[in-house]
Amino acid sequence: MTQPHRVHVVGAGLAGLAAALVLAEAGVGVVLHEAAPQAGGRCRSYLDATLGCRIDNGNHLLIAANRAAMRYVDQIGARHTLTGPGVAAYPFLDRKTGERWVLRPNAGKIPWWIFAASRRVKGAGPFAYFSARHVRAAGDDAVVRGALDPTTTIFRRLWQPLAVAALNTETEAASARLFGQVLRESLGAGGQACIPLVPREGLSETLVDPALAKLRSTGVEIRLSSRLRGIGFEGQRVASLDFEGTSEPIGPSEAVVLAVPAPVAPRLVPELIAPDEFRAIVNAHYRIALRGDAPWFVGVIGGTAEWVFRKPEVLSVTVSAADRLVDTPAETMAPLLWADVAAAFALPTEPMPAWQIVKEKRATFAATPAQLLRRPGTATRWDNLVLAGDWTATGLPATIEGAIRSGFTAADRLLGRNQTG
Ligand SMILES: Cc1cc2nc3c(=O)[nH]c(=O)nc-3n(C[C@H](O)[C@H](O)[C@H](O)COP(=O)(O)OP(=O)(O)OC[C@H]3O[C@@H](n4cnc5c(N)ncnc54)[C@H](O)[C@@H]3O)c2cc1C
Repeated sequence: MTQPHRVHVVGAGLAGLAAALVLAEAGVGVVLHEAAPQAGGRCRSYLDATLGCRIDNGNHLLIAANRAAMRYVDQIGARHTLTGPGVAAYPFLDRKTGERWVLRPNAGKIPWWIFAASRRVKGAGPFAYFSARHVRAAGDDAVVRGALDPTTTIFRRLWQPLAVAALNTETEAASARLFGQVLRESLGAGGQACIPLVPREGLSETLVDPALAKLRSTGVEIRLSSRLRGIGFEGQRVASLDFEGTSEPIGPSEAVVLAVPAPVAPRLVPELIAPDEFRAIVNAHYRIALRGDAPWFVGVIGGTAEWVFRKPEVLSVTVSAADRLVDTPAETMAPLLWADVAAAFALPTEPMPAWQIVKEKRATFAATPAQLLRRPGTATRWDNLVLAGDWTATGLPATIEGAIRSGFTAADRLLGRNQTG
């Protein structure tokens, strides 16, 4: 279609926000519809009444190589709200042996760091890293645990924690190919690319609130608590959007970006194939403020916790691919995870601070080879309807970077541009 004069973006998660930004900057009129009373979707902060402070719905780590996310934070003027150690340094603790090490890839692309014992995984020699070539060469059906030798130290202490965190899928089922892509865009791109970035305050303060402010300043109409119930199709076009109590006619020079999550989109778009298997993420938050010289985060091997993040007012734990934990009562889980947190940050185990457990049962789609085949592209068979979301075929797992890239791609398609994400 020719460039639309107005676009309705449905869903104000990062995919929808990114699409709206690009369209509004190109001078297109944008209406942003969001079902929830707030924007941000699966990436946002809120006041937790139990802890009496703001927390993020989950720990989200960005790295400098996330080019779409970096472009997005620049567009919304929020780069200065990202902080971190400033170098690629990833501290780990093995709960079984008590050993600690800091993974420190050198800045450039030639990985001489693997020959420096002080920079690599404890107990894994330099040549262990070459096993990464097996995931890069893996076939479409291969899973991480099949492509890599799970009995090795490098698997247990590096490949497995990275794969589970990035793909939110257990290594027995996670696509080796997709993990290969993650490695290409992170460790394979050199230490400069791996510099970790975390929000100074919270996810909303970095990724959502500045985006909304920017959108409002460019004239975008933002309609919160506005849930799309159905889409009216006529021939090759979307002709109406049906919200509770109202129907919005879609004129000949209008288009729609559908940026809702994977479980919602097939209910709105006939015959749409989308991922239909999901994995949980469990987060635990402990109300304790540590000094600024404590590590930004610690990777935990062989515990229940996997990554522990230091935030201004809490220590926050992430457990990915956590379906095994979702039925465990929070009262059981809190001390279990706290033991790992206390060990990771060398804190006394008693008393356990005030805590909160947040279980996201369908945090992301399962990154299995079969589910990847269900990811649709941006275009649909309707001329004025495009898709966005972390579950579309971004080539990445369900991540901030994937979601933002999908939003950029959807907007570019409507603008008739080559992909710029
Ligand atoms: C606990 C957790 C931890 C995570 N950790 C990381 C991490 O460390 N690093 C990383 O990169 N990624 C991480 N992710 C993934 C990341 O948060 C997501 O990939 C990303 O936020 C998805 O954005 P999205 O816009 O595609 O979807 P969503 O955020 O789901 O946005 C979709 C929006 O559509 C709205 N909506 C739904 N139905 C309708 C409707 N009918 N009408 C109107 N609006 C509707 C929803 O309310 C929502 O706001 C994590 C996710 C979770 C849950």
